[in-house]
Amino acid sequence: MHRAMKILRTLDDLARAGLIDGQERARLAPVAQHYAIGVTATMAGLMVPGAADDPLARQFLPDSRELVQVPQELQDPIGDDAHSPVKGVVHRHADRVLLKMLLTCPVYCRFCFRRESVGQAAGALNAAELDAALGYIAGHPEIWEVILTGGDPLMLSARRLADVLTRLAAMAHVKVVRLHSRVPVVAPGLITPAMVTALRRKDVAVYIAIHANHPRELGAEAQRAVAALADAGVPLVSQSVLLRGVNDDVDVLAALMRRFVELRIKPYYLHHPDLAPGTGHFRLPVAEGQSLMAALRRRISGLAMPVYVLDIPGGYGKVVLTPGAVTESAEDLMVRDASGRQHPYSS
Ligand SMILES: *Cc1c(COP(=O)(O)O)cnc(C)c1O
Ligand code: SF4
Repeated sequence: MHRAMKILRTLDDLARAGLIDGQERARLAPVAQHYAIGVTATMAGLMVPGAADDPLARQFLPDSRELVQVPQELQDPIGDDAHSPVKGVVHRHADRVLLKMLLTCPVYCRFCFRRESVGQAAGALNAAELDAALGYIAGHPEIWEVILTGGDPLMLSARRLADVLTRLAAMAHVKVVRLHSRVPVVAPGLITPAMVTALRRKDVAVYIAIHANHPRELGAEAQRAVAALADAGVPLVSQSVLLRGVNDDVDVLAALMRRFVELRIKPYYLHHPDLAPGTGHFRLPVAEGQSLMAALRRRISGLAMPVYVLDIPGGYGKVVLTPGAVTESAEDLMVRDASGRQHPYSS
């Protein structure tokens, strides 16, 4: 990597940091063989040592339940591969593409929907592959927005990021570049003045979707990094995953969403957990997510409300999980309010 950043990457690292004990170290070896480990110093510093139910430990420390797989789980849960015309590009919706330049992240979330592919240095695009990916985007004038994801695009150096933004901005049809990142929260030290400068553009609108799932992730260091981005005029939106044992609680979700708004991050998506292998212990029924959303709506400002979405397995895109979205009903002329009451609606 371009600059030294302390990341715990092995079970030995976790044991030395006191985050797992010797017994767990042995039990977790098969998990570590299959899935990458990454815990930044910032996240390790915010964890409650020894508390297995700590919402940060649950997200980042390996767990032997990851070895339990059920038949409905998928290697490629949201169907990226089915819509990849060229390596590193996913083009499912006409006006926007995902561009995955790298498959490394500062942390490896145990529930990650791309857990079968992230964590492999080999997945990064080389110069020729990046040229081909950018060539595809250049050749498709219907592409209005490019979404950098992967992998975490803020793991790139400021220089490489500025270079790719310049190349995208040079395409007249590309008006917006959105970066999906966990860096400002989990590795805020990477939000250097040079990085902020790279993201402050006049030739293309750059948005950052910041991923965080629990208010305790948003500590003092994250707050400083987020403020630097907001002060530079970079619009910020949030992205969270609804996770059993982490944030499946209306008080936690309310605190998280309010925290985002206080930090000038507009809540955007709350994702229903995907069918990623070995993540059953994080999943909860859609109906439970819907009632949490209803409870949230009764409690918090409209500005603080996220949209609850599900990525349909197989690459069919996202569906907003409004009440009734998952069950057929003939109520198309009745609207349901946040408390579940029905009202007649005529357009
Ligand atoms: C999620 C996703 C997007 C972005 O969707 P928005 O609803 O615009 O945020 C774009 N392309 C693919 C393939 C996606 O999975
Ligand atoms: S940061 Fe995103 S892509 Fe990386 S492991 Fe976490 S959820 Fe997956």
